[in-house]
Parts: sequence; structure tokens; C-alpha cells
Amino acid sequence: MPMDLNKNLIKRSLLEVFNKYGYGRDGLELIKRLGIFAGSIGYNSFLIGGFVRDIIIYGMKINPETSPRFASSKVFNIYKKEKGQGICLDIDIVLEGNAERFAELIRKRNDTGFAINSIKVHKRFRTATIEFLINKKPLKVDLASARTETYLSHGALPAVSIGGTSLKDDVFRRDFTINTLSFSLNPDGCGSGAGLPRSAELAFLAVRDYAGGLPDILNKKIRVLHDLSFKEDPTRIFRAVRFEKRLGFGIERHTGIFIKKAMGAKVLDNISGKRITAELNFLLKEKKPEIYFTRLEALGILEGIYPKLRFTNDNERVFRKIAKSRKNSQNTHIFYIAELLHHLNRTEFNAAVERLALGEKIKQIILSMYSDEKKLASLFSKLDEEDRKCADKLCGNGPLKLTNSEIYHMFKAFSENGILFYFFKNNNKSRLASNFAKRAAKYINKIRFIKPVISGNDIKSFGICEGPVCGSILEEIKLLKMDGKLKSKDAEILYVKNKYIVKKMEGGGKK
Ligand code: ATP
Repeated sequence: MPMDLNKNLIKRSLLEVFNKYGYGRDGLELIKRLGIFAGSIGYNSFLIGGFVRDIIIYGMKINPETSPRFASSKVFNIYKKEKGQGICLDIDIVLEGNAERFAELIRKRNDTGFAINSIKVHKRFRTATIEFLINKKPLKVDLASARTETYLSHGALPAVSIGGTSLKDDVFRRDFTINTLSFSLNPDGCGSGAGLPRSAELAFLAVRDYAGGLPDILNKKIRVLHDLSFKEDPTRIFRAVRFEKRLGFGIERHTGIFIKKAMGAKVLDNISGKRITAELNFLLKEKKPEIYFTRLEALGILEGIYPKLRFTNDNERVFRKIAKSRKNSQNTHIFYIAELLHHLNRTEFNAAVERLALGEKIKQIILSMYSDEKKLASLFSKLDEEDRKCADKLCGNGPLKLTNSEIYHMFKAFSENGILFYFFKNNNKSRLASNFAKRAAKYINKIRFIKPVISGNDIKSFGICEGPVCGSILEEIKLLKMDGKLKSKDAEILYVKNKYIVKKMEGGGKK
């Protein structure tokens, strides 16, 4: 074990992370008790995977000796961001034993002292998920029986073999050395279950490193476990980029060569569009997706997905803009994907959409964004001409004052997605462009939500109109309301009565 990583540091990292998520000491207590429970039914149990990797790197970040080297590694950041959206911590435990049995037994006899929210047994995958409640917050524990996996054909999902498998076997089915590290959950001094000998390696939080994950973390390297790793499962190519950039690590030299070889052998052709898009979406969820896509481009991965896919400096600029303006929004992926496919001609676009299995609905949304973007560019160029013709009027004392209803007419034909996409792509920094953007923002954030207080039924009850006529009266009231000319329901009613009932009566009189 390297000097920098001792048990106290691991414990401190765990406590700090559990604290960050609002679980406090109870988070640590829960995993301790799960280890005791596993031992009581004869199983060795281990925390494993991304959580362990991140806890160790977190330890490096808080250890003054190593912190400068790991300052750029992002761990628990994405979780922190998602926490606000209600997502809590997930941890993975691997058992030298049967995960389904563990889950069934804990369902009958939960002596962890923590409430269980739900237990799901996934028979097909021989795994189970238990959601505990700690301080009223869910904490999800994924349990898996130690397993080996065999790839019958490259790119296909593996065949799984479970019986009698040890942690050591399980480790070698994993993607990178840094994801193979585990912490034993067996209680101190209690020895092991499953007939294994007692050993210090099985003490609570003892680190198990069968594949050289610790030195790779210390040297900040992403390394596969064997030469054929990317051929067996090409999604690992995307995962390599994801961990490299998120953690500020480097892809180890041989691993880089294996990626090149795999790309040369066109391994991405062996995986479905859905799996590729799922991997791209993971990258799009990261804090600065442009960094990840620049790397995909450099490694020839985008080209490997579809020959005409590229990521240029211009895409990078637009990605940055999207990320900045949509920090906490959902459904942001559509903008990135639209940007990624924007340079393609229609035939190429259709082919790329099919390759990525985006589906008809997404395809139509993107096409309508492109169409709105084009129309808005043409609208703006007309403003530009006007601006040149009568510069004083438009720019003399600042922006030409448009009323809200004029702004409404300007943008009402466009979708919100289309307007946003136009502005993400647009790089015009002129004053006119910035006014145009301000107007669009006003339309999106405020004007389009302005609606009359009175309803069609109210108007009908005055006996002055039917269907479409009512609609046009409502539209008229909406525009007046936008411009601040009708400020209350009473004012709206009075307006309708004065304009339409009086008119009707006058009209009736004439007859
Ligand atoms: P993240 O922090 O992005 O969630 P993670 O490492 O926790 O990363 P998961 O996809 O949750 O990623 O996977 C959990 C663990 O399962 C990984 O750490 C790795 O050991 C293993 N794993 C996941 N995907 C693969 C794969 N394609 N090939 C081999 N092992 C994998």
C-alpha cells in the first residue's frame, strides 16, 4: 500500500463524502453493518468500482502531500450536481456469495438498524439493489455476486458465470485497473465467511488491489486489464475518455495503442446505435462535454461512429455556450446532438440519425430546430439591412424600442428549442445582435407566458361569439395585456363589453 493511502485516510474520505451527501456517520455505519450481515451468512463482501476509485482519489485530494497533483480530478462533483435534482449516492458491493440470497435474507431479517425503502432482485443479472433510508435520504446499494464474464463474440453482451467465483476472478472482467480496487467490508478480527482463511486483507476497509489499480491512480493512468479489452467491449473506449478527462488522468501508452488498433479494426461497427448514444450521453452529462468530444475527435472515435462526424473548434465554442446557458436544465442533450450533426447534408444527417438510433421523434425535433435557426438568421439579416438604412432609429439612443406585442409577433412562429439553438450557434457580437438576443430572451422568459385572465367561456357567456371569433378576441386581449394596456380581469371584461357588446347592440339597432 502506498504511503499516501492508509486506513485513516480512507475512513476520513468516506466520512467526508457521506457528510457531503447528508448521510453523516450513518453512511459509514451502514456499510460496516452490511459487512457484518454478509459475514453472518458466510460471505466476504467488498465495496468496489467507481465509488472506491473516487474515495481513494478524494483521499489524494485532501492529503496535503498529494493534493496539488490531484487538484484537477473531479470526484463526486457530478453526484453533487445531481443531488440537487434528487439523486443520491450509489454504492457497489460485490459478494463472494449469492447476491439474491443476501437480498432475500436481509428482507426477512434486516438487522442493520437502517430502514429499507425497497429491495429489487434482478434475477436475470443475478444482482440486487437495496435502497436504504438514512436521515430520510435514500442510499442505493447495488449488490452483485462475484462473477466472471466471457465474450462469445466481440461487442456482444457477455455470458456471465457466477458459482464459486472469488473477488479476484471478478476483478479481471472489469474495464480499467483504477476501477478494480476494493475495500473489504468484513468486520475487523472476525475472519472470513465462505471458508476462506482469516487475514488482515479481510479487515474492515482493507484495500484489495489485484490489478495494480493503486499505482495507476498514483500515476494518473487509465489502463486496461488485457490487450483485447476494447475489442471485447468497445463501449470501454468511451469510458476511457470519460475517466481520463474527468479525473485529469492520461490514457496509458499501451492502452492508447489498443484503442488505435480497435478503431483500426472498426470495432464500433459491432455495437448498436443505442449503446453508442448511451455512451455519448454519459459524456454530455459531464461538466465540460467539449473537452470529452475534442478527445473523441483526436482519437478518431467520432469518425468511427459515422465517417462524416467531426468535432471542430466551432463545435467546441457552441458546446461551451450550451453548457454555460443550460447549467441546471434538463433536456440539454438535444442541443449538443443537433450541433454535432449540424454540418451534415440531409442524406448524411439521416444516416447519422439512424446510426445513433435517435428515433423519429428526436430527428423531427432537430430538423425543426435547424429550420427555425435558418429562418431566424434570415430575419436577423433583414434587421441588419434596416439597421444600415436607418441606423439612427435603431441604434442612435440604444435599441429600437419594440413593444412586447411586436416582440411576440417577431418570435411567435418559432419553437423555444429553435430560438435557443439559433443563439447558441450565433457568434455575432454586434449591438444589433445583442438587442435581438435580448428580445428573444424576453420572449422566451416572459412574453410568451402572458395570457388573458378571462377565458373563452367568459366571452361566450356574454353571448357575443362562437369558437374562432372568441379565439381572436382572446388573442387581441393577450396582445393588449402584453403591452400593459389591460391590467386586470375587470379591465379585460370591460374592454370586451365596451368593444363588442356595445358594437353588437349598435349593429343590432341599425337593423
Ligand atoms: P461513474 O463514476 O461514471 O458512475 P463507475 O466506474 O461507477 O463510473 P459504472 O458504469 O457505474 O461506472 O460501473 C461500475 C463498475 O462496473 C465500474 O467501476 C467497472 O468496474 C465496472 N464496469 C462498468 N462498465 C464496464 C464495462 N463496460 N466493462 C467492464 N467493466 C465495467
